[in-house]
Amino acid sequence: MKNEKKSESDLMEKIISLCKRRGFIFAGSEIYGGLANAWDFGPLGVELKNNIKKSWWNYFVHQRSDMYGIDAAILMNPKTWEASGHLKGFSDALVECKNCHERFRADMLEKDKEEKYICPSCGKKEFTDAKQFNLMLKTFLGPAEDESHVVYFRPETAQAMFVDFKQVMSSMSPKIPFGIAQIGKSFRNEITPGNFIFRTREFEQMEIEYFISKNSWQDQFEYWLGELKKWMKSIGLDESKIFYYEVPESDRAHYSKRTVDIEFEFPFGRKELYGLAYRGDFDLSSHQKSSGQSMEYFDEKTGEKFIPHVIEPSLGVERTALAILSSAYKEEKLEKDTRVYLDLNINLAPYKAAVFPLMANKPELVNKAKEIYSKIKSAKVAPIAFDDSGNVGKRYRRQDEIGTPYCFTVDFQTLEDGTVTVRDRNTMKQERIASDSIPDFINQKMEF
Ligand code: ATP
Repeated sequence: MKNEKKSESDLMEKIISLCKRRGFIFAGSEIYGGLANAWDFGPLGVELKNNIKKSWWNYFVHQRSDMYGIDAAILMNPKTWEASGHLKGFSDALVECKNCHERFRADMLEKDKEEKYICPSCGKKEFTDAKQFNLMLKTFLGPAEDESHVVYFRPETAQAMFVDFKQVMSSMSPKIPFGIAQIGKSFRNEITPGNFIFRTREFEQMEIEYFISKNSWQDQFEYWLGELKKWMKSIGLDESKIFYYEVPESDRAHYSKRTVDIEFEFPFGRKELYGLAYRGDFDLSSHQKSSGQSMEYFDEKTGEKFIPHVIEPSLGVERTALAILSSAYKEEKLEKDTRVYLDLNINLAPYKAAVFPLMANKPELVNKAKEIYSKIKSAKVAPIAFDDSGNVGKRYRRQDEIGTPYCFTVDFQTLEDGTVTVRDRNTMKQERIASDSIPDFINQKMEF
């Protein structure tokens, strides 16, 4: 993978600015000058993020009968990381530019014709020798700060699915093939975080370990690739920006016979969005060896006992949010100016709809709009925005920018016949519908 240059792309700047202006994502602890590459999701960002997670959980857990969810502790027994190989091998090669002293991941640097690394900051080509830098974040558990109290913030959610394998087997008695799924925070002391929320040191993952018999791995791999494609389509990721990179043997983990990186054309270049890997029986075998506990599965039909093999679809929540935002950001030239809108799928949109009075200075319209807004809320259709500030044109623009698919406006005709106008975010077309039918109108558009 090549160096992720700090983005100066126009689109990226526009997305970052919209995210801050409209309360999606802003710098963490900003009043103290922030903390490098820490980002907070604001009132609209948390809705988007939760909707992504909800959609994933719904598709991969609730809609299936062979998937078991867990929510494991972030801090795990350190023996986990010994067995998984993370303590020894979860490292990147770090080099330092001898001129400007910036540090980089060696595998992300561009090289010249003579295969010499080029410093992306100062352009010089003199670097220190590569040192292996472990990416796990360490802390101490309990009051003593010594080696025996060291624990690690998990660098992936995946290991909990292997460590909890026996518990899920004995409590749920699943039949192979089956999967264990989890969404949660992971931590990596990345050498070069950056590009907004693309690479951070604290992030969320949505991961599945799907346990199979060895001889079915090729078919299962294709199947999971297909499932990922279907889910990416369902959340509205721009298909023309998605690429499938077959990771060559030399770059794969030694136990993986096939790995596909799902890449996305971000505004700063084509980068990994997700990973899909066949991990053989490496993890369960390692944990069996280290813990002394059997990780075998007993097949009642054949009478066979074996350690299952595994297919791992591994997805990042923040990278999904960034890919969604860059897919959805649209500018449309109008007669007088340019309109910005987020073409978000209704399931992902922070607000499903907004309700306005046509004029903010007419109490009868404001009261009626508030009444309709409350009725929609009590029909459990949420979240819905109410806005009576500024003029109606400005309100439409504000809702366009945050991706609200429908705006319902209460006008004088509403007072007579109970109908409201509904304006479609993408087409800006308006029609009239009965205000009582708004909850049904919204529910019909929702997919989950
Ligand atoms: P990269 O090569 O970009 O460092 P990786 O191959 O190490 O990524 P995996 O270990 O396969 O990543 O992690 C699975 C997924 O978790 C990634 O595809 C990505 O969506 C997400 N992810 C990994 N590291 C980060 C990070 N530092 N910040 C945000 N998301 C991340």
